[in-house]
Amino acid sequence: MQLNQIEQDIWQIELETPYAVGPVNIYIIIKNNRVMMVDAGVSTYPAWRDFQTALHQLNLTTASIDCLVLTHHHPDHTGFLRYLPTSIDLYGHWRNTPWISHDTHFMRRFQTFFQEQAVKMGVPERYYDKLPTFKGYLSMGGTSELKRTINEGDEIPGFEEWQILYTPGHAQSHISLYRATDGVFMSGDFLLEHISTNALLEPPYNDKEEAPKTFLRYRESLIRCLTLDIRKVLPGHGKPFLYPRSFIEERLHNQDKRFDTLKRYIKEKPQTVFEIGKRMFRFVFFKQMDLVLFEVQGYLEWLAKNNEVTIEMKEGTYYYKSP
Ligand SMILES: [Zn+2]
Repeated sequence: MQLNQIEQDIWQIELETPYAVGPVNIYIIIKNNRVMMVDAGVSTYPAWRDFQTALHQLNLTTASIDCLVLTHHHPDHTGFLRYLPTSIDLYGHWRNTPWISHDTHFMRRFQTFFQEQAVKMGVPERYYDKLPTFKGYLSMGGTSELKRTINEGDEIPGFEEWQILYTPGHAQSHISLYRATDGVFMSGDFLLEHISTNALLEPPYNDKEEAPKTFLRYRESLIRCLTLDIRKVLPGHGKPFLYPRSFIEERLHNQDKRFDTLKRYIKEKPQTVFEIGKRMFRFVFFKQMDLVLFEVQGYLEWLAKNNEVTIEMKEGTYYYKSP
């Protein structure tokens, strides 16, 4: 565990996780004796113990926390929901709800959605276990409920200087907090300096909706971020970093390059998401198959948006080719 003071009123608590992503951060903001916590760690006993130690060093206890804001619903950001007192006001985007409440209807849709995706993407059956399951959310234990949902432009009582920005892509529930007075930006997993943030595929939030185009949303969120005057990013993983403009521009530029590569690939012959992924990301493909497939799917949605791809369907599997 590491406890670092980041700004006069902001502390970062870094906690170990069992996930490949490494440690995760929680932020504590203290203003006029009110305490706001941003994100809720991972639900392991060592992380919970370390969190309490950090609070103790700040002369706080869990009872001192007035409100908790979730940047998004992933299990490494919502883990302590099972341990924290219910007196804490819980804020988050409404799209957190089915995940943190273990909505059974949504869980079923999740299951069917990824089974269908596997067929569409041409994933051989022996790799089906590499696709996402709901288990991370279930292992969070108890279910939680948002006290109030927040979205773009809303405010947290007592912390009105923080603007809520809706920054979907990595997760469709993702919000960021921005303080224009000193350019501090709490980015959750939307901006991470040393790990590439992936736009994860998610099932639709209701039966009538189509699957969200998460990669395109992520790209839009990045472009939108360039209009803000950000001085310091406080990310969900890793140390704070300064002036993210060139970093964001570089990300966008790399996406442009991948977009062109993909365009070249599909000119050769019709290919499935699985085939493209294996070729495009050959060094990490089997290690991170789900992330690679989601990424390729995202680029194909981008091509489709620009009318630069057509789809041939064979027995439920999609083959992508140049128009
Ligand atoms: Zn995440």
